[in-house]
Amino acid sequence: MKWTEEAEAAIGKVPFFVRKKVRARVEKEAAAAGRKVVTFEAVQETQRRYLSGMKSEIRGYQIDSCFGPSGCPNRAAVGDRLLSRIEEQLRAADLLTFLRDRVGDDLKFHHEFRVSLADCPNACSQPQIKDIGILGACVPNVTGAECSDCGLCVEACRDGAIGMEGERPSFDVCRCMACGKCADVCPTGTLMRGATGYRVQLGGKLGRHPRLARPLPGIYAEDTVLSIVGDCITFYKKNSRKGERFAEICTDAFIESMARRYRGKALAGFHGEPPRQVGGGQER
Ligand code: SF4
Ligand code: SF4
Ligand code: SF4
Repeated sequence: MKWTEEAEAAIGKVPFFVRKKVRARVEKEAAAAGRKVVTFEAVQETQRRYLSGMKSEIRGYQIDSCFGPSGCPNRAAVGDRLLSRIEEQLRAADLLTFLRDRVGDDLKFHHEFRVSLADCPNACSQPQIKDIGILGACVPNVTGAECSDCGLCVEACRDGAIGMEGERPSFDVCRCMACGKCADVCPTGTLMRGATGYRVQLGGKLGRHPRLARPLPGIYAEDTVLSIVGDCITFYKKNSRKGERFAEICTDAFIESMARRYRGKALAGFHGEPPRQVGGGQER
């Protein structure tokens, strides 16, 4: 939907922590009214209604995703279904009742439990600053197909994780971000998409005491991610006595215990595990 310059300027002045929600609401209301352009007046009207009814907008959780589902070509994994399954899980956990019980009348948006899903390591939806951040990941496999030495994989890798060793690519696994791009561009099938799933990071937040989420060490399948999210919600409900954010109570010990619990369930390790050799291919 198109926005006039005045409308863009007006939405830019809405407090950042509700800006995304107000923007979505403005567009929804404009579409419902059959408008194709968002005007300054439309922003003001929606903002007034939204902020006056803010309390009733609190759901107990926030979940968002990157623009991958709109057709972004960078998607390492396609997380549409995972997103809706996690939302269902958050809804079923009834975090609103939980937070009302712990926080009382002072309940605000900033208490809500936050999950963000990005479909590739570019992390456009900022999973690093959410209670649970999930990132699409795809590890390249090395097959037996002959390499033509075209160098396309080296060019495609933004992390300098591939170099040519003679006439073959070699990997610096500590640099690989599991974006899958090298496999996508390989014309010979020497590199193919291998383990595809999600990395999970826990305990990120902004605010007065910001911190980045810390990673679990694997790449996990969708069902395993749901199980991790479930464990985090259980831990949160047990330990957030006054409505503290998950990020505030998510200790290193908890993350280490999660890493141990899910070690055997990872599709692949993240960082430190070389691309897999499949189908009797050459050594690299
Ligand atoms: S995180 Fe990746 S897939 Fe998602 S919008 Fe950004 S670049 Fe595209
Ligand atoms: S999957 Fe790893 S090696 Fe391949 S392009 Fe992405 S970062 Fe580079
Ligand atoms: S692995 Fe594929 S993309 Fe890389 S140099 Fe060989 S043929 Fe080209």
